[in-house]
Amino acid sequence: MSDTIFHKIINREIESEIVYEDDLVIAINDISPVANTHILVIPKKTIPMLSESGAEDKELLGHMLLACSKIAEEKSIAKDGYRVVINNGQSAGQTVFQLHMHVLGGRDFSWPPG
Ligand code: 5GP
Repeated sequence: MSDTIFHKIINREIESEIVYEDDLVIAINDISPVANTHILVIPKKTIPMLSESGAEDKELLGHMLLACSKIAEEKSIAKDGYRVVINNGQSAGQTVFQLHMHVLGGRDFSWPPG
C-alpha cells in the first residue's frame, strides 16, 4: 500500500498545495475542503491507517499532532478552535489508505460527528 495518491504527492509525481513539510511529514490543502481551513497532515513513512501503527511510531504520531497544532496556529484557527480527525478504516470514512490527520477550522462543528 505504498502507491496511494498521497505517496504520489509526497514523491512530487502529482501536484498539491503544500502548506508545511519537514523530514517526517507533509501537510497539504485538501482538494475537497469541508471547512474554510482543511489541511491533511501525512507521514512520509508508509502507514496505511492508525490501527496499523505500532510502538515504533510513537514519536512520529506525536510529531504529527504537534505539526497539526503548529499549522493551526499559522493558519489562525487555533484561537477560535479547530478539530483534528483521523478516519480509521472504511466504516469511519477512510478513503485514502495512507494515514493522515485532517485539521479542520474556520467554522463551528457539531457533536457527535456524522
Ligand atoms: P479520508 O476520507 O481518507 O479520511 O480522507 C482523504 C482526504 O483526501 C479527503 O478529504 C479527500 O478530499 C482528500 N484527497 C483525495 N485525493 C486528493 C488529492 O489528490 N489531493 C488532495 N490535496 N487531497 C485529496
